[in-house]
Amino acid sequence: MKREDEFKLYLKKKFKPKTVTNYLTYCKSIEKSMNNKDMDDIIVDYKMLSAVKDNLLLKGYSKEYISGLNAYLKFAFSAATKLSTTSEILVNSKFYYVTRSKDVLLTSEVKFVCETLEQEYAHIVRFAEELFNKAGFGFIPIVVSNEMPDECEKILGRFFGSVKPYIEIYYRNFDSYDAAVIKNCLAHEYLHYLHFIYAGMEYDNAKKELKEGMADFFAFIYSINLNGKDDFKIAKNRYNRWKRDFASYWPYASALYFLQICGNEMKYSTKYDNYVKYGCIGKFLQVFLSTEHPYDAYLAMLH
Ligand SMILES: [Zn+2]
Repeated sequence: MKREDEFKLYLKKKFKPKTVTNYLTYCKSIEKSMNNKDMDDIIVDYKMLSAVKDNLLLKGYSKEYISGLNAYLKFAFSAATKLSTTSEILVNSKFYYVTRSKDVLLTSEVKFVCETLEQEYAHIVRFAEELFNKAGFGFIPIVVSNEMPDECEKILGRFFGSVKPYIEIYYRNFDSYDAAVIKNCLAHEYLHYLHFIYAGMEYDNAKKELKEGMADFFAFIYSINLNGKDDFKIAKNRYNRWKRDFASYWPYASALYFLQICGNEMKYSTKYDNYVKYGCIGKFLQVFLSTEHPYDAYLAMLH
C-alpha cells in the first residue's frame, strides 16, 4: 500500500489498535491474493473494483471476505482525502466518491443527486480519457453541499484546486433534479479539474472566459454525446444562452468560440460527429493543450 502510513494514522484516530492491525492484515492478504497488486490503485481507478472482486471469487474466497473491500475503500478513501473532518462518507457503502456536508440530510432529492453523480462519474472520466486520448485520469471527491453561493449567477457547482482538489455541488440551486442537469454540471466541474492538473499554477491566472468557456463546452459535448432527449435539452439551453449573452460579462458564453472556425460559426447540432467534422473538438483540444500559457490559449480560443 502506497499510502499505508496515512491510512494507519487515519484508522488509529477511529479504532482500537487491534482493529487497525486487523485492517492492515486484511489489506496485505488481499494484495497478496491479487499477485501483489497495490490496493491503492483501486482508489485511483474505481473501475478495477469489480474485476478484483470477481477474481477473488474465482479463487474461492468467501463473499464475506470480499465484502471487506468495501469497508477498506471507504476508510482508505477518507484517509486519502481527509474529507472525514468536514463531511462524512455516505453510510451506503456503494458511494466512494460522493460525500455530503454534515448538515445535508439524505432526503430523496439528495439521494437522487448523490446516486446520479456516483453513477455518472466513471462515464465522464472515460469520455475525457477518450477525448484526450490518454488513460489514467483520476477521480476527486465530490461534496454535496447545502450552500447557495451568493454570486450574480446561480452556480450549481464549483471546483476547488489544491493539493487535494475536490468538487462541490450546490444541489439547492438546481431548478430541477433531472439527471441530465446533474450530469452536465459534473462534466463542467470535472473539466476544471483536468485544466487545473494540466496547467497547474497557470490555471489560476487564466482568464475566466477561458476557464468557463472550456468547461462549458466540454459539458456541452458531453451532453450531446449522451444522446438523450433531456441531455439535448440541456445542451440546447446552454447553446441558446451562449448566443444570447455572447461577448457579455457572462464568461460561460465564450464557449461559443469553439463553434467558430475560421470566421464561420457552426449551428447547433445533436450529432456529436458534426462537432468533430467541423473542427470544434480539434479547436477545443488545441486550446486546452496551450493552457500552460494562458495568453496563447486565450488567443487560440478567440480565433
Ligand atoms: Zn465553471
